[in-house]
Amino acid sequence: MTSPVWHPFTQHGLDEPIPQVVRGEGAVLHCADGTTLIDAVSSWWVTTHGHCHPRIVAAIAEQAARLDQLIFAGYTHEPAETVARGLIALAPEGLSRVFFSDSGSTAVEVALKMALGFWHRRGDPRHRILVLEYGYHGDTIGAMSVGARGVFNRRYEPLLFDVGTIPFPAEANAQATLDALDAACRDTTAPPAAFIVEPLLLGAGGMLTYPAPILAEMAAICQRHGVLMIADEILTGWGRTGTLFACEQAGVAPDIMCVAKGITGGALPLAATLASEPIFEAHLSRDRADMFYHSSSYTANPIACAAAVANLAIWREEDVLGRIDALSTIMAGELARLAGHPALESPRQIGCVAAIDLRTASGGYLSDVAPALRAFFLDRGLLLRPLGNVLYVMPPYCTSTAQIGDIFAAIGDAANRFGAKHSA
Ligand SMILES: *Cc1c(COP(=O)(O)O)cnc(C)c1O
Repeated sequence: MTSPVWHPFTQHGLDEPIPQVVRGEGAVLHCADGTTLIDAVSSWWVTTHGHCHPRIVAAIAEQAARLDQLIFAGYTHEPAETVARGLIALAPEGLSRVFFSDSGSTAVEVALKMALGFWHRRGDPRHRILVLEYGYHGDTIGAMSVGARGVFNRRYEPLLFDVGTIPFPAEANAQATLDALDAACRDTTAPPAAFIVEPLLLGAGGMLTYPAPILAEMAAICQRHGVLMIADEILTGWGRTGTLFACEQAGVAPDIMCVAKGITGGALPLAATLASEPIFEAHLSRDRADMFYHSSSYTANPIACAAAVANLAIWREEDVLGRIDALSTIMAGELARLAGHPALESPRQIGCVAAIDLRTASGGYLSDVAPALRAFFLDRGLLLRPLGNVLYVMPPYCTSTAQIGDIFAAIGDAANRFGAKHSA
């Protein structure tokens, strides 16, 4: 019998295999057919410490038996209060308010609405959002609007709002980025409300990295012109780039910051949009018409919050950064070995995220090589999901040296098999 399930980012017409996973443990997924997979993409960038971390599992079980769900408009609960205080203690300076939602995309929608609300209440309504080329911020209409246009959203383009795109700071191009941002911030015909940016690492755009000083300069430009800076730390947060948040590496204090994915260690859906005091105060008055109009049913779900409380405790009490450091060193060694491969180019790494491009006859996300690669890796017991011809590894922090070795060895073999060996 065929399954009625319609999967995300899946072309069911291609009849590709859809493994059924029954159990997760650390970096390993156990499939219904008895095989195992190393989860080399952290189950789409969310699993940080490993699957079914005992402390997080216990926190979920305990909370589920005590209070499962609560309306969050006008009511509160201890796990949400603890998470909010914990986030503020860890986040860049100046962020003092926490608005909960339940996915990265909704955290971005909330951030955009906060920014627009801020300007409206200041009596200077602004609706223009600046974005970084190749950016990705989610799949809802607003989040798609501030993301790169492409095959992912072409069908919906007439519905997407117009944004100002700042060129990606490629090595040779960084000054052009800063100049373009400065010019856009000065534009008096369409003064921007905010600049939304993925700090240091653009994930879905192809695992593109740029240096921390560029992020610092972009933040300084926004600050100089009073344009709000929204840091989308949904992927980069929770240690992926080698620090708890990527902004730390640039000493950047954004006005608004979005977190999700690893906030619960990757166990349950939860997101938060952190805001500075002026943004909160802009919505503060005796007039109910000025309140922040946003909610979703499961806002600050207590069980998800309890998972986040446990995650924060793990960060506080265990040497997670030490683990990340050790893992990223192992990954760097493996990546260096692949760097000379004639079918691979542009090796790059930040923290525990490593990427390398496969030279192919036909590139792009829709290139046939991606599904072929996926099948190849599946055969090798690896969950790897290339972005087009971009091969990347983003493992949970508990992944062993031997498992990392297996992952990179398979990438080398895949390059031998699928890569175009002659350069350019
Ligand atoms: C994944 C991601 C999002 C969207 O998060 P969802 O939870 O999938 O809605 C937004 N921004 C970035 C940078 C992401 O990587």
